[in-house]
Amino acid sequence: MTYIIRGQWGLNREGFFRSDPWFLVSDFKIIEHGFGKPPAGIKTTFAGDGLIIPGLVNSHTHTELSHLKNKIIGGNGVHGFASNIMKQPKPQISEVVEMAKNEVENAALRGTFYFADISNDPEFIVLMKNYFNNRVNIQSLQFLELLGFREPFDQRRMQMAESFFNSHVLDGDIRRDIRVTPHSVYGSSPDIMKYIQGKNKKIISIHALEDPDEINLFNKKGKTFDFLNSIGQYAQHDDFNEKNYVLYLKKYFRDVEKLLMVHLAFADDGLLKQMKIDLPQSAIVLCHRSNDFLGYERSNWQSLTTSSLPLLIGTDSAATCPDISVLDEILSIIKKDKMPENVLWKSAAYNSYDYFNIASGEIPWFLFRDTTPDVSTLENVHAIDIVQL
Ligand SMILES: [Zn+2]
Repeated sequence: MTYIIRGQWGLNREGFFRSDPWFLVSDFKIIEHGFGKPPAGIKTTFAGDGLIIPGLVNSHTHTELSHLKNKIIGGNGVHGFASNIMKQPKPQISEVVEMAKNEVENAALRGTFYFADISNDPEFIVLMKNYFNNRVNIQSLQFLELLGFREPFDQRRMQMAESFFNSHVLDGDIRRDIRVTPHSVYGSSPDIMKYIQGKNKKIISIHALEDPDEINLFNKKGKTFDFLNSIGQYAQHDDFNEKNYVLYLKKYFRDVEKLLMVHLAFADDGLLKQMKIDLPQSAIVLCHRSNDFLGYERSNWQSLTTSSLPLLIGTDSAATCPDISVLDEILSIIKKDKMPENVLWKSAAYNSYDYFNIASGEIPWFLFRDTTPDVSTLENVHAIDIVQL
């Protein structure tokens, strides 16, 4: 069945709201859309008043931390957060999965339909993969994260990954689409970097410069260095002689097709420019509310807005963020007036589709009833898939 849905307001590719959007639907998929006069001679319906927004992409979350929602006190930086997490009891995996699904469902009610999700636990990741695969209109890209900066912790993680990817019991096929990824420069040893380099040439996700002291690890000082030392995870690595953050990453990941550089709260103009030259396949993933929660003040908004690297939006986990809805993430940034609104809409939608190769026919569009281009009207409104109307 082919028909046209017309609406009051739609979002264009530049991230601006324009009146009179139309959507050509065939077999429950939107195969074409535009503004103004729709193609003639096709049955037309009207969706109702409000904004119609394409599905949003969460480029960084850890649903496996959903059980820590409202459990961690903020303001203590990434090290305070990590030591706090280590003290928390972990519930049964089935409970964690239920809480994770709940977070995803709540974000979906607000128009997020794609999740780049990171997990440390092979069992969790398989359970979530099954859930994502069976959930209509939600897509996922899942990563198995390898955390461990010194022997034997890093070696154990690699062995775990090896047996995970080599196992072909029942769900063996499911593992094909799961990507192995490092945690960060300070959380994953050079051996882990080398392992991932040999294993994954497609896409990696790495926490980068979330904390101002991360870069000082190369000089064996600062809070990151102290923290690793205090938990027995510090090791002097020869590879650190490079002493340059971007070149260190380039050494391992120059041939990886896509690099999600998550946070970059303390990346200055010079570092962003160098990244554009040395790792031009990178995208920057902003997780603003989580940075705020940890107590970091980002000062590079201007550089990010003008950087020619694609900008994407993530939330990080429900432990550091009230929810994993990308709409609520961008509304929080709009409220603070840190970036032009259209840049944020583009980042959460079109930049993300391009970066993750999401085909236009796979993108759901959502009506937020009775809202207007004054985006404060979007607070607390549920998303309605216009094809399901
Ligand atoms: Zn994260």
